[in-house]
Amino acid sequence: MKVEIAHQLLRQHSEQVIAQLVDSLSAQQIAAIRALKPDEQFTAISAYRQALSPEQIKRVVDLEAAWFQYQQGVFTLCADCEEPIEDELLMANPTAQRCAHCHAHYLQQRSPALPLCEL
Ligand SMILES: [Zn+2]
Repeated sequence: MKVEIAHQLLRQHSEQVIAQLVDSLSAQQIAAIRALKPDEQFTAISAYRQALSPEQIKRVVDLEAAWFQYQQGVFTLCADCEEPIEDELLMANPTAQRCAHCHAHYLQQRSPALPLCEL
């Protein structure tokens, strides 16, 4: 996927997540966040994490990481193998960190298969 298209998706996703913060943050805080550049917004939101739900914090952290990668010029590249992340994954989640292959490997490492005796 072209970085400009992924960037567009990331901006849309960012705006959706910020719109969902209206329940947790004050109108003033939201206005201050919206006044920032997109790549600075989620670092600023991180300062309010006490006010956010665990789910919101995860989205904010994912977006902060994606915008950092954008600044570094490695956005849309897999964090593990540095190959381009598949379009379908970026369409579904523009903050995806890994290609399908590395993501499967990552999940396997995080949740080891049940020992055979438990099957
Ligand atoms: Zn990979």
